[in-house]
Amino acid sequence: MSHITSKSSPIVIVGAGVFGLSTALHLAERGYTNVKLLDKQAYNLSHYSYDKGCDAASADINKIIRSAYGSQFQYQELARDAMAKWKKWNDEIKTGKTVPAGFSTDSVLFVNNGCLTMTSGSEMDQFEKDTIQNMTKVGLRDTQLNLNVPSDVARARGGGFGFVADVFNINNKTALLDTRSGFVYADKACQFALAKVQKLGVELVLGGPKGTFAGLLQDASRTNGVLTADGKAHKAELTIMACGGWTPSLLTQLDNLCETTAGSVTMFQLPPNNKALWDRFAPENFPTWSHDIRRGKCGGLYGFARDPNGVVKIGYRGAKFTNPQIQADGTARSVPATRWTQEAIRQIPLTAARVIKAFIQEQLPELLDCEMNTRLCWYTDSYDNHFVIDFVPGTSGLMVATGGSGHGFKFLPNLGEHVVDKIENRQNDYLQYWKWRSLEINCIPDLDHTVLVRLPMEPCAPNNGPVAVNKKSCNPNAISGVRLELLGPPLPHVATLAGNEVWSECSSDHLLGQGKISGTKRVQNWEGNGHKLASCST
Ligand SMILES: Cc1cc2nc3c(=O)[nH]c(=O)nc-3n(C[C@H](O)[C@H](O)[C@H](O)COP(=O)(O)OP(=O)(O)OC[C@H]3O[C@@H](n4cnc5c(N)ncnc54)[C@H](O)[C@@H]3O)c2cc1C
Repeated sequence: MSHITSKSSPIVIVGAGVFGLSTALHLAERGYTNVKLLDKQAYNLSHYSYDKGCDAASADINKIIRSAYGSQFQYQELARDAMAKWKKWNDEIKTGKTVPAGFSTDSVLFVNNGCLTMTSGSEMDQFEKDTIQNMTKVGLRDTQLNLNVPSDVARARGGGFGFVADVFNINNKTALLDTRSGFVYADKACQFALAKVQKLGVELVLGGPKGTFAGLLQDASRTNGVLTADGKAHKAELTIMACGGWTPSLLTQLDNLCETTAGSVTMFQLPPNNKALWDRFAPENFPTWSHDIRRGKCGGLYGFARDPNGVVKIGYRGAKFTNPQIQADGTARSVPATRWTQEAIRQIPLTAARVIKAFIQEQLPELLDCEMNTRLCWYTDSYDNHFVIDFVPGTSGLMVATGGSGHGFKFLPNLGEHVVDKIENRQNDYLQYWKWRSLEINCIPDLDHTVLVRLPMEPCAPNNGPVAVNKKSCNPNAISGVRLELLGPPLPHVATLAGNEVWSECSSDHLLGQGKISGTKRVQNWEGNGHKLASCST
C-alpha cells in the first residue's frame, strides 16, 4: 500500500539539489499534483552558480558521469540507465523542447569525452578488473580500453578517442579508458531539471527566509510538514528532507549513518589569449580523468576538460575532512563551511593542496602559471557509501533522501524514480541498499579521515605552535570515530593572520594529547582569488 493517500495530497521537499530535484521531477511525472520544493537558495535567479552564492554539492561547474562501478553491478546498471536519460535531455535541448533561460539549442549537458582511470604501478586495481568483468556481462567489453595495450590504443584511435592516449604520461601507470563516460555541466543540468520541474507544475519556494527550513511540524506520532524561517507553516502529508551536507545537522536521527565531509576543489583559469592551451584542454581533446582515486591520502584526484570560460577543475578526495561543531543538544556534528556560509572559508587543506600540486607538476605543468581559485565542496557520506532513501523511524510522514557519498550527481535524471517507488511501496531492488540503517556501536569503518581544525587565537602561535586540541574518546555517534574537542575557549574561534582566516588540518596522528600543526602560513598560499600555484611554497 502506498504511503500517501492520493496523488493530490500535499508533499513538501526540502532541498533542491540533485536528490530533491530528481524526487520533485519524478513525483510530478507520475502525476502528483501538490508538490512543493523549498530551498534556501534562490536557484531561479542564481542558476546553481557557485560564483553567485550557491554552495550545494550539486552547484558546481562539472561532475563525472561514469558507468564503471567495479563490483557494484547495481550502480553500473543504474548509471547506464541515467546515461540514456542524460542523452535524452541533450536531445530535449537540441530539439527545442526544453530550453531554459540562457540556453540555446546548441547547449549540451552531457559530454561523452571518455573517462580515464589512471593508477600508479603496473597492476590495475581490483575495482577496474571488476568493472571489465561486469561490463563484459552486459556485452560492453569493447567500451573498456586498456591504454597500456597497443591494440586497445588502436581501438581508441579508431573510435575517436585517440586524444586520450596522448594527454598524460602513463609510464609506470595503468590506464583504463571507459569510452561511454564523460562529464555533465552540473549547474546547467540542475537548471535544466528545475525548469522541467517548474513546467510540470511543482511549486517552487526558493531563496531567503521563505525558502529556509526552520523546523518540522510534528505531533507525538506524525510529521505534518515544515516551518520556514519566515514563520510560515507548510503543511504536508509527506515531508522529504534532501538537504545534502546540511541534512545530518537538521535531522539528528542520521547520527551513526551519515556524516558531512569536505572535498577540495581547485579551479585553474586558462589565460584568455592562450589559444594553444584552450585547445589542449578542450573537451574534444581532453578526457575526464582520475588518478589513484581509491588509494588513500596520496591519491584521490580527479579532473576535467576546461569549461566554456576556460576553467580547468581538479578535485581531491584522498582524505575526508570534517568540520565538527557542537550543536544545541551538545553533540558535535560536521557542518558545511564554504565561501558563502556565515563563517566563510576560501581555502583548502594542506594535504589536498600538496597532492594536487605534485600531480600537476608531473603531468600538467602548464597549469602552474594559471590563476587558481579553491573551494570546499561538502559531501553527505553514509558509512557504507550507499544512498539513504527511506522513512525516518519514530514518526510517520517523514522521509529522507540523502547520503550521495560522492557519487550521486550522475543519477539526477533517474534517482527520483526510486524515491517515488519507495513512497508507493513498489518492489524495487535498489531500495534494499538505501534503507535506514546504522553502524553498529564500536564498529569503526576504515576511513582515512582528517579533521579540519579552526585554530584558536590563543595559545596557538601562527606557526608550529601547540594546538589546543585533543582526541575525544570514541564518540558512538561519530561515523569516523574521530571527534575533536577544542581546549580553552569554546568554538567558534577563528584566528586571523594577515587578515586571512587560518584553517589547518590535523590527521588522527596529531590528535593524541597536545599536537603541533606546522605550515599554517603556507596554507594561505592556496587561498582562492588569483594566487598562482607556482608561488605556493609547499
Ligand atoms: C566535490 C564533490 C565532487 C563530486 N563529484 C561527483 C561526480 O563527479 N559525479 C557524481 O556522480 N557525483 C559527484 N559528487 C556527489 C554529488 O555532487 C552529490 O551526491 C549530490 O550533488 C548531492 O545532492 P544533494 O541534493 O544530496 O545535496 P546538495 O546538492 O548539497 O543540495 C542540498 C540542498 O539543500 C539546501 N538546503 C540546505 N539546508 C537548507 C535549509 N535549512 N533550508 C532549505 N534548503 C536547505 C541547499 O541549499 C541545497 O540546495 C560530488 C560531490 C562533491 C562534494
